[in-house]
Amino acid sequence: MTSPLLGTYARADVAFERGEGAWLVAQDGQRYLDFGGGIAVNALGHAHPHLVEALTEQAKKVWHVSNLYQIPEGERLARRLVESTFADLVFFSNSGAEANEAAIKMARRYHAAQGQPERFRILTFEGAFHGRTLATIAAGGQKKYLEGFGPKVEGFDQVPFGDHEAMRAAITPETAAILIEPIQGEGGIRPVPNQCLRGLRDLCDETGMLLIFDEVQTGVGRTGKLFAYEWSGIAPDIMSVAKGIGGGFPMGACLATERAASGMTPGSHGTTFGGNPLAMAVGNAVLDVVLAPGFLDHVSQMGLLFRQRLAELKDRHPAVVAEIRGSGLMLGIKTHVPNTAFAAAVRDARMLVIPAGDNVVRLLPPLIVTQADVGEAMQRLDAACAAIEGELKAIAQRGAAE
Ligand SMILES: *Cc1c(COP(=O)(O)O)cnc(C)c1O
Repeated sequence: MTSPLLGTYARADVAFERGEGAWLVAQDGQRYLDFGGGIAVNALGHAHPHLVEALTEQAKKVWHVSNLYQIPEGERLARRLVESTFADLVFFSNSGAEANEAAIKMARRYHAAQGQPERFRILTFEGAFHGRTLATIAAGGQKKYLEGFGPKVEGFDQVPFGDHEAMRAAITPETAAILIEPIQGEGGIRPVPNQCLRGLRDLCDETGMLLIFDEVQTGVGRTGKLFAYEWSGIAPDIMSVAKGIGGGFPMGACLATERAASGMTPGSHGTTFGGNPLAMAVGNAVLDVVLAPGFLDHVSQMGLLFRQRLAELKDRHPAVVAEIRGSGLMLGIKTHVPNTAFAAAVRDARMLVIPAGDNVVRLLPPLIVTQADVGEAMQRLDAACAAIEGELKAIAQRGAAE
């Protein structure tokens, strides 16, 4: 039977019925270790009791009222985000792409309000991913996402990853902002060195550009800090957040300083669903857990342990594993075989991982992952590597026989 779903995804032939913590149970009863987390979304794993309670309690009260009225849970979540970050103000959206749209519009509007409407261009980096709307595919600049969708939205200039000279050369009097992921996620878990982030901050201060961090994937504890920018010692002017902040409930946020947000006057931007009571209840519940004393230390400890075990995996399977990357619980394995084949072999071993660019598979376990879960992951990764080595050997033998 063919699917009535638009064929934009090549879906694996497995459907999950329920989940608990780091585990998912498929319709056939098989248990899978979920180290993909729905692409860094299920920050607290599946069916976390505190999240389930927050959502069901809110569901009994009110689901949606629109932003024409006060939403106290949203006020509370915004205040907690502001108190925990560089930001003064928060705009809630439904997704990462929409959080980035808000960030892009805000940066442009800031300069317009300063009397420089010609200053609207934004610098981005090769390998970046910022979402799938028309503006965010232009920001991401990847040909495979732009092709066939008409003229690219004007105003995005892309420079090579880590090329300081190229970036300085790309700045013009029309440049409004720099948009960057502190660690490229879809691009293949490629961290930007802290000293480069500090350099970007200096450059923005020198030239009056705004610095925008896309923390849709790196945020909400993923790297062992609430937000990855904290590792660098500097702060952006604007930051987009999504994925983990809803723990599986669709939501996003655009955070900003008062100065950067100064162009966003009443009526300048909006959303029907963004910040709705269900999302806000869950967002607050996620923060209850992530901000609890010791939680981020747990993430760092599990990240270090997992990374160490992955380094051992590389030593055991040098024909399969090329490199281990990333930080905290945002890790990547660059493979010698096609990453999609590796991800399939891992899935055959009943574990879920996510392919990314640069022939990497991402490991994005829930932040509540335990040492025992990491042990289970290593067994499955070893089994997948062994299966691939077996195949490589069979191919080599066939080659020798011919
Ligand atoms: C996933 C992602 C996005 C897009 O988020 P959506 O919710 O899919 O719109 C944007 N930026 C980064 C860094 C991401 O990882």
